[in-house]
Amino acid sequence: MPLMTGEQYIESLRKLNTQVYLFGKKEPNWIDHPIIRPSINCLAMTYDLAHDPEYADLMTATSSLTGRTINRFCHLHMSTDDLIKKIKMQRLLGQKTASCFQRCVGMDAFNAVFSTTFECDEKYGTHYHENFKKYLTYVQDNDLTIDGAMTDPKGDRGKTHRDQPDPDLFVRIVEKRPDGIVVRGAKAHQTGSINSHEHLVMPTQAVAEGDKAYAVCFAAPSDAPGLFMIYGRQASDTRKLEPGADIDLGNKKFGGQEALVVFDNVFIPNDRIFLCEEADYAAMLVERFAGYHRQSYGGCKVGVGDVIIGAAALAAEYNGAQKASHVKDKLIEMTHLNETLYSCGIACSCEGCATKAGNFQIDLLLANVCKQNVTRFPYEIVRLAEDIAGGLMVTMPSEQDFKSDLKVPTASNFSLGEWCDKFFAGAEGVTTENRMRVLRFLENICLGSSAVGYRTESMHGAGSPQAQRIMIARQGNIEGKKELAKVIAGIKE
Ligand code: SF4
Ligand code: FE
Repeated sequence: MPLMTGEQYIESLRKLNTQVYLFGKKEPNWIDHPIIRPSINCLAMTYDLAHDPEYADLMTATSSLTGRTINRFCHLHMSTDDLIKKIKMQRLLGQKTASCFQRCVGMDAFNAVFSTTFECDEKYGTHYHENFKKYLTYVQDNDLTIDGAMTDPKGDRGKTHRDQPDPDLFVRIVEKRPDGIVVRGAKAHQTGSINSHEHLVMPTQAVAEGDKAYAVCFAAPSDAPGLFMIYGRQASDTRKLEPGADIDLGNKKFGGQEALVVFDNVFIPNDRIFLCEEADYAAMLVERFAGYHRQSYGGCKVGVGDVIIGAAALAAEYNGAQKASHVKDKLIEMTHLNETLYSCGIACSCEGCATKAGNFQIDLLLANVCKQNVTRFPYEIVRLAEDIAGGLMVTMPSEQDFKSDLKVPTASNFSLGEWCDKFFAGAEGVTTENRMRVLRFLENICLGSSAVGYRTESMHGAGSPQAQRIMIARQGNIEGKKELAKVIAGIKE
C-alpha cells in the first residue's frame, strides 16, 4: 500500500486501539467525534492530494531507501530541491485546509533522526541508524502518519531534568532489559498525535551526562500498552457539537489538533530504539528537528495566510469597502508580510546542505529567522484582517437566528431570519449568508478554534521566540562581523 487515500487513512486509524480521553471521559469513537473529526479530515488531505496528478510533483517523491514512490511527508530530503518542494507542499496544504495539517512533525523528525543516528553510530559504534532505516522503510511502505514528539511537560522551568521534584516531567528510561527499554513520562501539545499511527519520541533539550536516562529516542505505536492521550480543547470547540452547525464554525471541515501523550511504563523493543543514553547527541537531535520545523512554518502558515488575505478581501467587497485606499493598502501589507515568511522558508531551503548521512538539512540560521518572523507576522496579518472585517465579525447573531422562521410579534411580522437578513445586509448583490460566512471564517481563524493553529502555534510551535533567539545568537557570527567592521573602519587592535 504505497499511497493511501484519505479514506483509507481514516479506516487505518479505526484498526488501532488508540486510547483517547476528552472532556473527562474515555472517547471510544474519537474518529467520528465532531470536535476531533476536522483534524482527521485535515490530515486526510495530505493523502488525497498525493493522488491528484496536478500536485504529484509536490506531494510525492522517490524514496532514497527503496526507490519506490512515496508520500513526500515520509521522505528524506535528498537535495535543496526537495527542501524547496517541502515548503511548496506545505503552502499548498495550508491553502487547501486553512489549518494545521499535522503531518509535518513526523517528516521533520525522520530527517533529524536519520542524520543524528548516523553520527551517533559513527562515534559510539551503536546500531541506531540501521534500526531507523528499517523503521522508516516500514513507515514509507505503509504510508503512515507519525507524531514527531519532542516537547516534554518540563515542570519547573528553572530546574533541569534531575532537579525536578517529579522525575516524570521529562520522558526517561526507567528500565533496561535485554530485549528493550521501558520508558515513562509524557509529551505535551502534540500536534496530530491522536490521529497518528505512531509516535517518534525525541529528547526536548540538551541532556547532561548525569541525566543520561533522559537521552532517549524511540518509536511506539499509538496503541502501545501504557500509552494514552488527553485531547487539548480549543476556543469555541463546543460550537462543533451544536446540531446542524455549519456557518458558525467558520471552517466546518478542517482543523488542527494537539494532545497530551502519556507513557506510563511503555515497553520499547530494541529495534525501535534510536538513542539510548548517548547524552551528547540529544542537543544535535533537538537542534535539527527544531530547524526543520522552523523551516516548515515558512510554508504552512503562508498557505493559511493566503486564505486569510482572500477572506479579508472578500469581507471588504461584501461590506462595499473594497475601493477604499486604506483597505487596498492593508491587503498589500498583509501580502507583503505573508510573502516575507515564504521568502524565509524558501531561503533556508535553498541554502541547505548535505549531512554526513546524506540527507539534506536547512540553513539553521535562516530557518530560525523564518520562525522568529512567524512569531510576529501572523499576529499583524490577523490584526489587519480584523480591521478590514469590522466589528460584526464578533457581534452578529448565531446561524440559528439567521435560519429561524420564528415570527417576531411586532408590526412588520417578520421572522427572526428576515430581521437578520435585513439588518446584516452589506453591499448590493451580496447575500447576507455569504457575508456571514466570510466573517465567521475570519472569527474562527483570528480568535476561534483555528486561532490555535494560526496564532498561538505561530508563537510557540517549533519552539517559543526565545528558543530562536538563542539559535540566532549562536549562528549569527558576531565575531566575524566585528572583523568586517574593523577592516572597513581601519581599526588595528
Ligand atoms: Fe505542519 Fe505547520 Fe502544523 Fe507544524 S504547524 S504540523 S508545520 S501544518
Ligand atoms: Fe506546529
